[in-house]
Amino acid sequence: MKDRKLLMIPGPIEFTPEVMRAMGMPTTSHVAPNFIAVFGEAIERLRQVFLCPHGQPFVVAGSGSLAMDIAASNLVEPKDKALVVNTGYFSDRMGAILERYGAMVTHVRAPFVGDVPALADVEAALQQGGYKVMAFTHVDTSTAVIVDAGALGALGQQYGVLTILDGVCSVAGEEIQQEEWGIDLAFTASQKAIGVPPGLALVVAGPRAIDAFTERRAPVGSYYADWTNWLPIMEAYEARKPSYFGTPAVNLIWALNVSLGQILQEGMEARFLRHRRLNQAFKAAIAALGMDQVPVRGEVAANTLTAPYYPEGVDKALLGYVSEAGVIVAGGLHGEIRDRYFRVGHMGAVTESDILVTVGAIERGLLRAGYKFDSGTGLAAAQEALTP
Ligand code: PMP
Repeated sequence: MKDRKLLMIPGPIEFTPEVMRAMGMPTTSHVAPNFIAVFGEAIERLRQVFLCPHGQPFVVAGSGSLAMDIAASNLVEPKDKALVVNTGYFSDRMGAILERYGAMVTHVRAPFVGDVPALADVEAALQQGGYKVMAFTHVDTSTAVIVDAGALGALGQQYGVLTILDGVCSVAGEEIQQEEWGIDLAFTASQKAIGVPPGLALVVAGPRAIDAFTERRAPVGSYYADWTNWLPIMEAYEARKPSYFGTPAVNLIWALNVSLGQILQEGMEARFLRHRRLNQAFKAAIAALGMDQVPVRGEVAANTLTAPYYPEGVDKALLGYVSEAGVIVAGGLHGEIRDRYFRVGHMGAVTESDILVTVGAIERGLLRAGYKFDSGTGLAAAQEALTP
């Protein structure tokens, strides 16, 4: 009998067998010709996945928080003004990182947990003038709330502000047209929708972000994150030449190139559509089971994860029951509501059957928790949404 449980948290996610095989390959030298070819190809493919043909990708060993550090440390100088469009836990973190590098940070916050700040409020802040960067979390993993990245990118361009998109819970799952939407820097981490085990920070900087870096007067406040060190390395690998600054995560980069190949083979449009379809089916099941969600309306709900409130009389013991039924889901993360909700990730290589198995396990968990509902209601709703 298989003793593996299905991992349905919002990262790390389940990875494809091809990606896992790449992780297990004999590790080569970081300047071996076959590794240089793979790294170079991965850099080229990142431009296509982020839909940023003129962007400069950076692939650096570290988690998503390093990608945040790279964005903040390279783009801001002490006393620069930064605006954070705040939708939760990870927007707070971005604000803290920007402050660490000397920025003067203003937050525009949503009126309550589960909503997004009004675009008019963001614009009113930008009209005050003087902001160098505006950062926003595309999908806040603590609330499953998504912001309108296209509209925010356009506002950034209109007011001459560099836009930073935290795409850790969105890149390669939610639609992002980095270049067309005017996003100057976007980043993610390997363990989410891009489909590679944890350990890589992935950043794509557009021409305006690179110009801002080139024109800075103060040195970058982080040695490891400094593009002065990494830009020549990325350029060398892309030119298929050996080079060294810090040892690259060789196996993770092999795996990244495999995953990027799979993503591009599916096609970005088709991938965004699949995420939307599976999301609709899962959310239909949650609604049919009588559970509310943290995002206050459909338009602000992400496609990559769902954050249901526990129904009346049910608490976090549900997570244990769902796990016993074979599926791992995550608890709450947002401080204000932590014990009132849970989170289910459905991104990357996720399939229809993963959705059905997860709904089934949640139903069994709810039954164990003593919640009264018609068994099978959630499954029927998901089935109906999945059936053309
Ligand atoms: N931003 C968002 C939106 C995230 O979801 C996460 C991780 N869950 C991070 C940043 C930080 O990434 P990491 O945990 O890999 O450092």
